[in-house]
Amino acid sequence: MILPSRPQNPEAAQRAPAGSVMKTFSMQPGNEALNHVVCTLCGADDAHRWNGSDSLFVQCRRCGLVYQDPQPVRAELLSRYDDDYYSYEIENEAQFFRLMQLGLKDIQFDDIERSLDGERSFLDVGCATGMLIESMKKRGWAEQGVEVCRPAAEHGKQQRGVRIHVGTLEDAGFPDASFDVVHCSHLIEHLNDPRGFVREVRRILTPRGCFLVTTPNTDGFQARLFGKEWRSMIPDHLYLFSRRTLASLLRQEGFAVQREKTWGGLAIGTAPRALKALADKLAKPFGFGDVVMLLTRAVKNDDILPNPHSRSGKVLGVDRN
Ligand SMILES: [Zn+2]
Repeated sequence: MILPSRPQNPEAAQRAPAGSVMKTFSMQPGNEALNHVVCTLCGADDAHRWNGSDSLFVQCRRCGLVYQDPQPVRAELLSRYDDDYYSYEIENEAQFFRLMQLGLKDIQFDDIERSLDGERSFLDVGCATGMLIESMKKRGWAEQGVEVCRPAAEHGKQQRGVRIHVGTLEDAGFPDASFDVVHCSHLIEHLNDPRGFVREVRRILTPRGCFLVTTPNTDGFQARLFGKEWRSMIPDHLYLFSRRTLASLLRQEGFAVQREKTWGGLAIGTAPRALKALADKLAKPFGFGDVVMLLTRAVKNDDILPNPHSRSGKVLGVDRN
């Protein structure tokens, strides 16, 4: 849906109030309906402003999850993905596709592909104009996309001949065990209900399937270096995960993490080329990249950790290190 390396969109920047800094494409909040939310990871209602008193983001004191509070309601959010967003996706689709390919290579997607005999199905949630699912179709996968931005989805369907549901994953209503791979790149941080989304992914995943999720990394070098100016601290991101908080959410919803990768040391334009190259090279092995990707598989129902929102009040399955 959105990649963190996207350059600034001039139109979006013009909508931003004077003095604000637009790091990546993001709609500027207007008079939207807002809701107070508690931490979706541990259920606590105990958070402090993250990176300054004027930040949109808070951090849970109990588990460390970073999220916006208050948050725009779902209908308001969906209306953000309009024609401007479509223009942006078209302009950058080749670059985003290349980055997704690099991520899949890094996580050894070829091994996953080889391990799946017979017919294979691939779902990309937040598929934009459908470039990734088009490439999967050419590799022999039964492809399916989900995209809330209608013009982007229509473009994919008409220009690429790929299957795309226009709307959210939840309202697509796919049957149980529909897909061998569910992939989402820069999508989960945009959602009001990432827990409900992960739960839905698990329902539609085949027992042999895997779930690949990519999102900005709050434990990355850039987040630490740039603080409130970090390019992922934008209004369209409602949740910002670290490797740890993302893995916790996935584990609570019945997934086991099999592989994880981070990449991206410094963004283009933030450092001399040689320094950027060094930071990029070191980010991967040391796990402080700007983006994190997890490869996960569903575990048996009996092995799912208790929900931290349960009546017992006990918070289990949340790492706090
Ligand atoms: Zn929490």
